[in-house]
Amino acid sequence: MSFNTLGLSEKVLAAVEAAGYTEPTAIQAGAIPRVLERRDVLGIAQTGTGKTASFTLPMLTLLEKGRARSRMPRTLILEPTRELAAQVEENFEKYGKNHKLNVALLIGGVSFGEQDKKLDRGADVLIATPGRLLDHFERGKLLLQGVEILVIDEADRMLDMGFIPDIERICKLIPFTRQTLFFSATMPPEIQRLTEAFLQNPAKIEVAPTLTTAENVAQFLKATENQDFEKRAALRELLEKSEDLKNAIVFCNRKRDITTLFRSLERHGYNVGALHGDMDQRTRMMMLDNFRKGNITLLVASDVAARGLDIPEVSHVFNYDVPSHAEDYVHRIGRTGRAGRSGVAYTLVTPDDQKYLDAIEKLINNPIEWEGEPIDFEAAAKERKARRRSKTAKPEATDGKPSSRTTAEKPASRSTAEKPASKSTAEKPARRKKADNDDAVITEDTQPKPRRRPVRQDQSDSSSSRPTTRSKPDRNEPAFGRDGHVPAFLLREPRPKKVS
Ligand code: AMP
Repeated sequence: MSFNTLGLSEKVLAAVEAAGYTEPTAIQAGAIPRVLERRDVLGIAQTGTGKTASFTLPMLTLLEKGRARSRMPRTLILEPTRELAAQVEENFEKYGKNHKLNVALLIGGVSFGEQDKKLDRGADVLIATPGRLLDHFERGKLLLQGVEILVIDEADRMLDMGFIPDIERICKLIPFTRQTLFFSATMPPEIQRLTEAFLQNPAKIEVAPTLTTAENVAQFLKATENQDFEKRAALRELLEKSEDLKNAIVFCNRKRDITTLFRSLERHGYNVGALHGDMDQRTRMMMLDNFRKGNITLLVASDVAARGLDIPEVSHVFNYDVPSHAEDYVHRIGRTGRAGRSGVAYTLVTPDDQKYLDAIEKLINNPIEWEGEPIDFEAAAKERKARRRSKTAKPEATDGKPSSRTTAEKPASRSTAEKPASKSTAEKPARRKKADNDDAVITEDTQPKPRRRPVRQDQSDSSSSRPTTRSKPDRNEPAFGRDGHVPAFLLREPRPKKVS
């Protein structure tokens, strides 16, 4: 099939040719003619499928007629993250190079002044994140009655990030007569409900999820222990043995791990950058740009970088943590092996990760190959159980307190590290949840926390001497055992702190 048959204007076809595209992708072939017919569209497609051009190309064609009025944008595209919004703007620049359209980008982390000016001038295309759009609206700087086309992109990501109430509010501010183009990689019930409420008789176009396109990505699991220093060493080992590594994204589940890992890799001489949701917009864009240009070889990132970002040549992806949402795995490894290239994805797996790994293998409908020895999860679970049982046995002390010997003989320098963490700091569900959601507001994770005692009682001394900052509820056991027994590692001289 050729682009010429889809009904796009001459100007748009010229830009498509200049971009070097010869054939429309499945989502483009399905969506473009429907958009040009002014139908609502429900596109179930992920990034990497050519989804962005499937709405930008017909929008450009439709926008050739008419003019924008001050503060009244003609079209509105909602994106969950600033990066995605900026990427869509780049698409308009690329495909709209033969048009004279005003494109305005409204994203957080940038001053209102410039954005106000663009709105005053009249925007043909307004690309925005929901929060910033509503800020402008509430300041009275924006009127939404003139919006003819509304695009809601990455709706399931919006759901993950808690934007659905904002989206509902925005939909109600835009005339009912608008055309709505709605894209989502998956269709959980909340998203289904949204499409039923806000789309009118949509043309549904579903393209094969990129779950299958990972065929050109060689995927491997690598067993490691839970401790951060072990994981960092395992990662470095993988980096060293990957001879064909040109550049890589290293994904972490938590922001605090990004900073630690970034510093560690830097100390080990890697050319590394970091990217997460708490960084200001300028730094994020700069970091991405440096990575795209090859000035940075390794990018330690959160899932904010996994979704949708179009970085064409990433040779490797490393999952420093197994993602707790199986879909994130697909998005992460989808950063490599793009546009027909081959890629490699490694995932570090600890004995605690079985549940998450099972969910991923179920989702991709394939077991992932282990590089080296696999983890015996059954044995690990038994060991955990036994450990838990031994923990429930209370330490014996005549006055109900830890024996004075235990307390006295703790090395002074460890007194803070080895105090059992209080429930209030270690186990607050709200904090744990927020910390997992990278784009959520800054959490306590960015604050220095008291050092915790080592994660496992039965581990070797070398690991015990390096306290971890990871908080897991079942690791808060006191640092003494039964009958006044003091574990051997407490009686040894503390080693000098070594950061790996
Ligand atoms: P997207 O799914 O919109 O993030 O697009 C993924 C990548 O595919 C981008 O780098 C686009 O430039 C590229 N692309 C989009 N449409 C086509 C096409 N018809 N042929 C080749 N590449 C395309």
